[in-house]
Formats: sequence, C-alpha cells, structure tokens
Amino acid sequence: MGKSGSPSLVLLLAAAMAAAVVFVASSSSPVAAFPVAGLPEAEPPFPNPWLAFQNLSGCHMGDERDGLARLKDYLSHFGYLPEAPSSSPFSDAFDADLEAAIATYQRNFGLNATGFLDPPTVSQMVAPRCGVADVVNGTSTMDRRNASSAGGAHGRHLYTYFPGGPMWPPFRRELRYAITATAATSIDRATLSAVFARAFARWSDATTLRFAETASEADADITIGFYAGSHGDGEAFDGPLGTLAHAFSPTDGRFHLDAAEAWVADGQGGASSSSPGAVDLESVAVHEIGHLLGLGHSSVQGAIMYPTIRTGTRKVDLEADDVQGIQSMYGTNPDFKGVAPTSPSTSSREMDSSAGTGSRPGGRFVAVVVAVGLLLLLLLSL
Ligand SMILES: [Zn+2]
Ligand SMILES: [Zn+2]
Repeated sequence: MGKSGSPSLVLLLAAAMAAAVVFVASSSSPVAAFPVAGLPEAEPPFPNPWLAFQNLSGCHMGDERDGLARLKDYLSHFGYLPEAPSSSPFSDAFDADLEAAIATYQRNFGLNATGFLDPPTVSQMVAPRCGVADVVNGTSTMDRRNASSAGGAHGRHLYTYFPGGPMWPPFRRELRYAITATAATSIDRATLSAVFARAFARWSDATTLRFAETASEADADITIGFYAGSHGDGEAFDGPLGTLAHAFSPTDGRFHLDAAEAWVADGQGGASSSSPGAVDLESVAVHEIGHLLGLGHSSVQGAIMYPTIRTGTRKVDLEADDVQGIQSMYGTNPDFKGVAPTSPSTSSREMDSSAGTGSRPGGRFVAVVVAVGLLLLLLLSL
C-alpha cells in the first residue's frame, strides 16, 4: 500500500469493512439475498479487486507509481486505452496517454476532467462496475455532452445505442424469456418470476414490445441466469461487489447475474435491502433489460441506463431519457402514461453500478451492470 493520505486511508478501511460484511453475509447464509447481521466473521474479507487504486490518489502526469500499470489495464478493459501488446505490457509511468484516458473517463462520469487521479475519480474507479468498455473504437458511448455543458445534462437526450444500433427486428415484438440457470441462487423460483416480470413490464409499458416468460429455453428469445465466476462467455464474475450482471445486445438475448451478490428480491426496499452491499435485483434487471433491447448507457444520472445505480434502494422507474431512447427504437405504447416525476432520494446510501458498452474480443457487445457504490456510500457517511 503506497502513500495514502488519511482520507483515503479511512476510505480504504471503511471499504474493506464493508466488503467483509458483504462477503460474510453472502457466503455464510444460504439465504444470500438477505444478508443477516451479526454473523461470525469467519471468512476473510472479499477483496475489492480495485481497492488498491486508492493508493494512486493524487497521481498525475510525470509520476511513476506501483499500480499504475494495473490501472492502465483497467482503463484498457473499459476502452479508455488500447490494449497493451503482450510483448510490452503497461508500465507504471503516468504518461500523456493515461492523462487523456483519465480525462475521457472523468467526462463520462460527470467528473471534472482534470486528467489526474483526484480523489473523486479514484473513488469512482474503485466502485464496483460493469466489466465492459465505455469506449468503443475510440468513441465514448457514454458522453455526448460538450465539456462545457457537463453537469447540465437534464433535458437533453443522452441515451445511447450499442455500436451499430442492433435491435430486435420488427417481426419480433413479442419476446419470450426463460429463467434458465437458478442453481447458484437461493432466491426461489416464484420470486424470480415475479421480479423479472415486473422488470420487463417497465419496458413494455412504454413501447410496443411485449414479454412473456416461457419454461422452455429452446423457445426463448432471452435467457436469464445466475452464475459465479467464469461461466463460458469471457466475462467472468468477480464475487461480491465488482460486476453485478451483464447482458448482451440484440438479438443475443443472454442476461447473466453474479450469483455472489447479496441480492434482495423482495421488492419492498425493506430491512433486508438496507444491509450493506444489498443489491436490488429488480433494479438491476430493469437496467440489463435495457441492454437486451439495444440501449447503451446514458449520461443522465437519473436514467435507468445510467451506469451507476443506488444500492439499498430501488431504481426501477424509467426516466424520460430511457423512454425516449426505447421509444425511438420500438415505438410508443398508446396506453403509456408517461414517466413518473422524479422523486429526490432521501437515502443516505449510495451504490454505484457502472456499466459500459464495448467490443469484446469475439466481436460481440456486452453490457454489464455494475455494483455497489459502497465507497460512495461510505464517502457520504464520513
Ligand atoms: Zn456472462
Ligand atoms: Zn449497463
């Protein structure tokens, strides 16, 4: 651990504690969706894979610091830097390419584009997020603002599509989904069916699309499953925190959830969802379904398709930006009553779920929803 100022040290400790709570809750209890307080801390804390980035806080152009190579790998994975050739891996030098990559990242996440690793940027990077790129072929899929208008995005259309604009064709407006892999979750099947039905309804309410669950995977356009770790698509899950879920763009139809998260599926936002690290399944599902239908991420913070979502609370209502995006692809449901007015959140808990769109080595685009902004939460509570 390099030199941390005391604020980042406090953060580091707090985040480690939070990660420990999440780990204990989800690994010790068969009811992983409902973290139980007071469990013995028998397991070591699950390491946030990006926690060491805290040590890089303050780094800027010209610095050389252990860990910058790993940060470059991270930025490369999300599309902000080209992949390093295997013959010459990234170095620990803070060069002009890294500065430019950080500035792009900052613009995407509504941060000041300082080009150095200021604390807000490091906090955002450490927050668990989507495993996939925000920048595809050198073009950011997230940021459509001018630098000068950053922070004033409301009222503008900031939704995005996947590169190439894949969508379900006009003759496929009634899509069937199957919940195909549930062995790795303790949430019962009836609850899953109810949660996903509600999540799909958010989108069918606004559009001409219709969704129905089918028991037959062979009959399904969309498949939904819980997986732990590597599961065959090159997008390994990473345990609690980190990546929460990912979904492929049309017409692939795969929607995968990280079985290791402390999912909350009661839909009530009650006591269980106030546990540290609790992730509301329905909120994540609404976001991922947006990807299944062809939406990328939005820079509008209140939008379902914004890469970060709150934890400990629900975020399931489409925002105007989501509605404009999806209706521009699939038309308007004449019965749609419009978006509910956005209600300011009173929660002090925050969770980040960042996701991006990106080109995978296989040429596919996958979008992944992200995880818990426990760090943000902790930042706010400090
Ligand atoms: Zn997957
Ligand atoms: Zn996403």
